[in-house]
Amino acid sequence: MDLNYPPEAEAFRKEIRSWLEENLPQGWFEPGFRQSDDERKEFNRTWIEKLFAGGWICAGWPVEYGGKGLSILQQVVLNEEFAKAGAPMRADFFGDTLVGPTILQWGTEEQKQEFIPGILQGKIAWCQGFSEPNSGSDLASLKTSAVLDGDEWVINGQKVWTTQAQYADYVFLMCRTDPNAPQHAGISYLLVPMHQEGVEVRPITQVDGSAEFNEVFFTNARCPKGNVVGGVNNGWKVAMTTLGFERGSSSTTGYRRFLKEWEAIVEETKRVKRNDDLRVRDNLVKSWQKVKIMEINGYRTLTDSLNNTHDAALLGACNKMFWSEMHRATMDLAIDILGMEGQILTGKGNEVSTTPGMGRGRADYPVSELQAFFFFSRSETIWGGTAEIQRNIIGERALGLPKEPKAQTV
Ligand SMILES: Cc1cc2nc3c(=O)[nH]c(=O)nc-3n(C[C@H](O)[C@H](O)[C@H](O)COP(=O)(O)OP(=O)(O)OC[C@H]3O[C@@H](n4cnc5c(N)ncnc54)[C@H](O)[C@@H]3O)c2cc1C
Repeated sequence: MDLNYPPEAEAFRKEIRSWLEENLPQGWFEPGFRQSDDERKEFNRTWIEKLFAGGWICAGWPVEYGGKGLSILQQVVLNEEFAKAGAPMRADFFGDTLVGPTILQWGTEEQKQEFIPGILQGKIAWCQGFSEPNSGSDLASLKTSAVLDGDEWVINGQKVWTTQAQYADYVFLMCRTDPNAPQHAGISYLLVPMHQEGVEVRPITQVDGSAEFNEVFFTNARCPKGNVVGGVNNGWKVAMTTLGFERGSSSTTGYRRFLKEWEAIVEETKRVKRNDDLRVRDNLVKSWQKVKIMEINGYRTLTDSLNNTHDAALLGACNKMFWSEMHRATMDLAIDILGMEGQILTGKGNEVSTTPGMGRGRADYPVSELQAFFFFSRSETIWGGTAEIQRNIIGERALGLPKEPKAQTV
């Protein structure tokens, strides 16, 4: 799709392209590049330093907090050029895209000064402490409690599915701070240090051998009184901001990884000689159409953002539901095309994704890249709000349907 961006946006595009040409190591995503753990760590370390020096991490943030204050259009151009080059542009997903923007929107000046520089430099690793064993979709029923004791909050309870908790320095945690208030009105959003005696992280090993998720137990864990974001008992609103960031996506670039993946599936189709199968061809076209719809919707979202006419929560819900279901169906197709080969483990184990912008890094289980994406696509309709919950949001906010009935607790 050819779009006419204004000349100043194109000038900015040139600036980014030449920065990438100068700084991105040649062939960084070729097979064999940064295969070992040490190579990967070294690449990540030096790349984050370069990104930070260039000012490209969270470049849309205000200048006074270390960003470049880029306009929406400039951010889109930046995303597009990084996506085309297959260059990563984040220091830490949870920091850059979730808790960082939340602190900027809701945090006190002290919180911004304390946490934003560390987020920008990738020096604080974060995890998200929302879900509990009995509170996932129904998040407002959460039970983990925080009680003030002098100048500190004392936290007790359990979180689950906490991605990367084993590496995190801090958790952004939803806790009940007023057990007597109505559910949504008694929750606060705390920033809690992970490296302390009262926090225990237990990995959950998955079917593919990896252990990305954890259970996290809080037993009289503590954090300073001032680490509550957005005010005591106002955590529901603050958390909805974070979830809005999680469900939203980089509007005009999100489709690219799916296109890349679709092209890889077409290559596999040729390799296994199924490209003459009419059913396969038909399904490949249908799947390509969905990627195209994503691309076009991306531009619609951008137009809405530029005109300030969008409902971020609604667009986030539509996008999340569409791409996660589309991706599951595409991965089903990929495994179907591979036939018997798709059923056996054809990877070497410990492999690193070589497709820019895609994948989970490494899998301990010897799955091929497509098999790994197939497995992971099962989870995409769940995290960040399930597809059913997105449908509820769309039903209520876009279609004006009545709110779903809630069971009364007696
Ligand atoms: C890959 C991955 C990473 C994750 N990382 C994190 C993390 O870092 N931190 C964190 O806090 N959580 C994380 N989660 C947890 C995730 O947020 C929850 O799994 C999700 O909110 C769903 O909650 P649940 O698993 O308890 O399922 P439930 O809420 O029990 O839902 C079970 C089923 O019932 C359906 N359902 C529930 N309520 C309704 C309703 N009202 N209407 C219609 N259908 C409904 C759901 O759609 C689902 O199909 C992660 C999950 C995954 C898969």
